[in-house]
Amino acid sequence: MTVISIPTDSLFGLDNLPYGVFSTADAGPRVGVRVGDSVVDLTTALGDNVFAQPALNAFMAQGRKRWVEVRAQLTELVSGAVADDAVFSIDDVTMHLPIAVADYVDFYASENHATNLGRLFRPDSVALMPNWKHLPVGYHGRSSTVVVSGTDIVRPCGQRKAPADAAPTFGPSIRLDIEAEIGFIVGVGSPMGSSITPDQFTEHCFGAVVLNDWSARDIQAWEYAPLGPNLGKSFATSISPWVVPLLALEAARIDTPVQDPTPLPYLRGEEKWGLDIDLEVEWNGHVVSRPPYAQMYWSPAQMLAHTTVNGAAASTGDLFGSGTISGPEKAQRGAFIELTWGGAEPVTVGDRQRTFIEDGDEISISATAPGASGGRIGFGEVRGRILPATGDAR
Ligand code: CA
Repeated sequence: MTVISIPTDSLFGLDNLPYGVFSTADAGPRVGVRVGDSVVDLTTALGDNVFAQPALNAFMAQGRKRWVEVRAQLTELVSGAVADDAVFSIDDVTMHLPIAVADYVDFYASENHATNLGRLFRPDSVALMPNWKHLPVGYHGRSSTVVVSGTDIVRPCGQRKAPADAAPTFGPSIRLDIEAEIGFIVGVGSPMGSSITPDQFTEHCFGAVVLNDWSARDIQAWEYAPLGPNLGKSFATSISPWVVPLLALEAARIDTPVQDPTPLPYLRGEEKWGLDIDLEVEWNGHVVSRPPYAQMYWSPAQMLAHTTVNGAAASTGDLFGSGTISGPEKAQRGAFIELTWGGAEPVTVGDRQRTFIEDGDEISISATAPGASGGRIGFGEVRGRILPATGDAR
């Protein structure tokens, strides 16, 4: 038997217990839980084949009562001794995409980000569109190109046309960017024709990850009017491998900023679902931004309520992004287009001045939050490196 030692300053202590999908040299992808610097194989440890699958979906679909039960079992298990063949060092495992992604929707819930992007994309009109404070604005993303942290990202090609250009051209994006976000995962869906209220959030949302919504700003700026982002976003979205259970985020719950005007009744709830999560963005190993999730205007509970209020179905494995997280300070902006003000104000990355992402650059976004025991819990990181474009300039 193995007693798992957890360093006192670990972000993966007993108040976290995030789930992921891992493989080892001798066995394929299955569900595990991270404890300190160890991964516990749940099929072996708990003897339940719901975990012997390459995605969390089957477990998530069992619902909140079961999530609470397994979390209690795990807390007891890893506080004692675990069977030797169920414990692996984090250094000996390969992490995989933790969920089979059903639908993917991305929101736009930061007032600072929406205001900054409005100024940059539409300098001649009001920064915030008239609908922004009445509903969480979102667009449908591409679930099939959601990838796990560590996956290389090929620079996309596409159409782009700067305002001064007479006609569009085709080629590799020259304004490739990131968006630092938190992604929320639906564990239990809702049938078509029904809806989920903000106060039913805990029954439906299983957990959260760090998400990087890679964005080709030149492709996006030309294509987005009037139906929203498409190819400027759909080439890749990266998520962190560990899903922090919503049950581990109780100590992080705070009020959202004051919402004025008061949202319509279907967006109102008694429960507070602002979240005190701190993010950190590293560009080639240098910290360039620290976005605060606590400032997000719309809560994830409101985003899920809005997604289903028209009777649209929700499914196990649905992923929805918060939208770029940007605080009021420059060093809190979660996208490089904001951080460098459209490329006009380069930032220092190590010993170089940078605006948008160059080939070979590696971006890592990590996050931490208060834990139940007074310390902090970690989401780990979402990391990705940019490879040169492979498309020919047709
Ligand atoms: Ca986004």
